[in-house]
Amino acid sequence: MHDVVSAFVVSQGEELLTGLTMDTNAHFLCEVLTRAGLRVLGARTAGDDRDAIAATLVDAARTADVVLCTGGLGPTEDDLTAESVVEAFGGELELNDLAWDQVKARYARIGRTMSPANRKQALLPVGCDVLENLMGTAPGFAVNTSSTRMYFLPGVPREMKEMIGRLVLDDIATRFDLVAPLRHTFRVMGRGESQLQEQLGSLGTRFPGVQLGFRTKMPENHVKLVAAPGEANWESAKAWVREELGDNCFTEDPDEELAAVVGRMLVDRGERVALAESCTGGWVAHLFVSEPGSSRWLERGWVTYSNESKTEEVGVPEGVIAENGAVSEEVARAMAEGCRAHAPVDWGVGITGVAGPTGGSPDKPVGTVWIAIAGPSGTHARKLRLGRDRTANRRFSAFIAVEMLRRQILRLNAG
Ligand code: ATP
Ligand code: MG
Repeated sequence: MHDVVSAFVVSQGEELLTGLTMDTNAHFLCEVLTRAGLRVLGARTAGDDRDAIAATLVDAARTADVVLCTGGLGPTEDDLTAESVVEAFGGELELNDLAWDQVKARYARIGRTMSPANRKQALLPVGCDVLENLMGTAPGFAVNTSSTRMYFLPGVPREMKEMIGRLVLDDIATRFDLVAPLRHTFRVMGRGESQLQEQLGSLGTRFPGVQLGFRTKMPENHVKLVAAPGEANWESAKAWVREELGDNCFTEDPDEELAAVVGRMLVDRGERVALAESCTGGWVAHLFVSEPGSSRWLERGWVTYSNESKTEEVGVPEGVIAENGAVSEEVARAMAEGCRAHAPVDWGVGITGVAGPTGGSPDKPVGTVWIAIAGPSGTHARKLRLGRDRTANRRFSAFIAVEMLRRQILRLNAG
């Protein structure tokens, strides 16, 4: 059995502590390191203060086998990382010839003139390994302390990510014996976390060695399996979960979105969809268009926000609106069916609701949403009762509409 290699993530920059910048680097690094088989023991942020950065680095090095630090490599005075490294671990800074050549070459390539301050970017600890930055000017570097391999990378996410993929992960792999765990994700709609817990909770006793985890990404739930490499129960555990989840699982690809799955199902049938969206204001269209190849299944979408537009664009009869109100099953159905009548499509989606936080009435409180799907075998409508958060209501309604479309296609596919 191998010892698990431990890691610590340090984010450097005052803007992270004042809330100006969200620390997406730590999030990214924690995920990448975990996937690579390291165990991340902690993540900490230090502002633009040399002593604070040095103290954080000393703690991190004491804690873990590998430390990844981002930020503070630039040419400005608030970029203190290299100075903090020598303060923390001793040694001195020198003009690193390799790094200096890289900075000069980078400036030549992008045709910008250098300022004296740029020289600072090549002032690195004596004896460090230079990590070339192909997307920006600040080179990264790596040092070894008595216990720890430490990497220092630029704060700009694009530059950092590129260097992780090209240089850092391989370097870690050559120095440590990594064992990446087996992992598998089931993405689920239509079942809550507690229902999933109840349904799948016996997994650990049925398949010892396989761990079960959940993650909610409203309105989805993700079921995650993890096991050590070579686990004998792995395939049978996956098969059991697959069987239990059935159609509630829409994909086993962790990166595939619900809209992409529905798009694929429509393409397989040679069918397209049109949308009439009121309270979602185009959010379903956004979900579809975010997927490459969406022109193959999305024919058009209307944002039919006013009563008049519902009538003019998709032919909702004025009387139906007058009689039932704009937020009603009848209007949602007429919108969905109107899509099919006014566009060359097989499927229509109609959504109308009270997004909030104001504007409700006793019989139609804020968060009341009607969604209808019209398709080759009729129209299906559903009422949602959501909360008071406008953005959450719009987003949630859009996802539920896509999910309802998926269920209708599944029913047709089943014959
Ligand atoms: P540069 O040469 O561009 O100055 P640098 O290594 O000095 O690189 P910083 O100055 O610390 O990096 O940060 C540059 C930019 O990168 C910041 O303005 C911020 O937008 C972004 N950034 C820094 N740290 C993070 C982080 N932890 N998460 C997300 N973005 C970050
Ligand atoms: Mg900077």
